[in-house]
Amino acid sequence: MASVLDRETAAQEKFLQHGGKLFIDDKWVDAASGETLDVFNPATGEVIAKVAAGGAEDIDRAVKAARRAFESGAWSRITPSERGRLLWKVADLLERDADEFARIESIDNGKPYSIARAGDVMLAIDMFRYMAGWATKVMGSTTQLSLGFEHHSYTLREPVGVVGQIIPWNFPLLMAAWKVAPALAAGCAVILKVAEQTPLTGLKMGELFQEAGFPEGAINIISGFGETAGAAIAAHPGIDKVAFTGSTEVGKMIVQAATGNLKKVTLELGGKSPAIVFGDADLDAAGEGAASAIFYNQGQVCTAGSRLFVHKSAFDRVMADVADRAGKIKVGPGLNADSDMGPLVSDEQLSRVLGYVESGRSQGAEIVIGGSRLGDRGYFVHPTVITNTNRDMNIVREEIFGPVVVAEPFGDDDLDKIAAIANDTDYGLAASVWTRDISKAHRMARKIRSGTVWINCHNVYDAALPFGGYKQSGWGREMGEYAIQNYTEVKAVTVKL
Ligand code: ADP
Ligand code: MG
Repeated sequence: MASVLDRETAAQEKFLQHGGKLFIDDKWVDAASGETLDVFNPATGEVIAKVAAGGAEDIDRAVKAARRAFESGAWSRITPSERGRLLWKVADLLERDADEFARIESIDNGKPYSIARAGDVMLAIDMFRYMAGWATKVMGSTTQLSLGFEHHSYTLREPVGVVGQIIPWNFPLLMAAWKVAPALAAGCAVILKVAEQTPLTGLKMGELFQEAGFPEGAINIISGFGETAGAAIAAHPGIDKVAFTGSTEVGKMIVQAATGNLKKVTLELGGKSPAIVFGDADLDAAGEGAASAIFYNQGQVCTAGSRLFVHKSAFDRVMADVADRAGKIKVGPGLNADSDMGPLVSDEQLSRVLGYVESGRSQGAEIVIGGSRLGDRGYFVHPTVITNTNRDMNIVREEIFGPVVVAEPFGDDDLDKIAAIANDTDYGLAASVWTRDISKAHRMARKIRSGTVWINCHNVYDAALPFGGYKQSGWGREMGEYAIQNYTEVKAVTVKL
């Protein structure tokens, strides 16, 4: 277990050509304070790199650079077609370096290399290509007025301006791509803050923007802590829009900080997504699907199927299947070829997940399998299945963000009642429905209050599909053409003829 890793825990120069500096105005610079932050390998707990710890002064420098690029600089003079070409170029460079990005992602975040390579990196490439296409398709419309006089009216769609983007640690490169690709396609200038736990691939992406030839200040990438660099973005008066992905708790703080200059806000927050298995489902597919819905990415997915509801006629069978699969998952370092699941991202996350399991246990829930740490080095936990819960328990109401599923049978056949159970949450990010009855599936899709409903699948994403939350799971939608709307303003122009 240690051998592969020991070779990989070398200095940061191996990861980042530019030594973990901040990428501001097309240059690699130290934080104004000179401070750095430690980056850990979650498989070992060892420090593997130091990167600059950007703060308010660095955000301010980046905002000024972005403002120059947006208002009078090289970025605003670039044609849509050229913007598209630049984004496509980033996709090509990412494809060229895909193995390296996947390796770094695995070491930094903990996830298995093969999953980072086939999932995170491929989806990031695809997001850049998809948004490259949108750069030339941002359009207004013409409208006939009813005023009785002769007017010519049309709308313009213009970039919202300088945008600040704050991303989490669960899909570091992919979240960076989701954020920066549509903003740049729309013609905005960007300040991206990567998560302090996983800054490496986001910073490394800066090398690609430089190589692709993006003009100075169009894209700036900052590593730093949330309370400093992140808070400075949310509050900065020179930022026109903030886009955040992370916890609901911090999302609410972003909203408050953004009121200073009423910057536009989009939020992609937490979830407690239900997977609902009916008795008439393909139960093998449902068992496999319910397991991967929660265990994919160590359960550190905002759409994780963390509440499993199974019709009583199938409950024992599906539960046995999910528990069996949980027991067979090979948990180990992400760079070990036979690992199915890696460590959690951090010591903090490990304590948080184990704390939830303990709270469930103390409130009388039954741990069917798992529920404990694996080994004493790194942040590994056993995939965990819990039952005998009630809907007041913290483990049922709150987002655990780990490989822990709570399962409950339902006896009802009334779809409204089943939907009410699924909707009994502050969140509304996603859900999956497992059945062979197509009418039932589509009826359920309408009754569930969430931004995504999957039928006979879970955790399926595509650059073309809108993604976001109802209720306290967020504001706005990412991906698809909706992402372009997030980064544009509409202007009505009227001429008296
Ligand atoms: P977690 O607690 O799981 O790390 P967070 O919501 O705290 O999730 O973090 C998501 C992102 O938000 C990270 O980039 C983090 O640095 C940033 N962040 C955390 N706190 C703040 C804050 N007060 N203001 C702005 N950004 C923050
Ligand atoms: Mg936090």
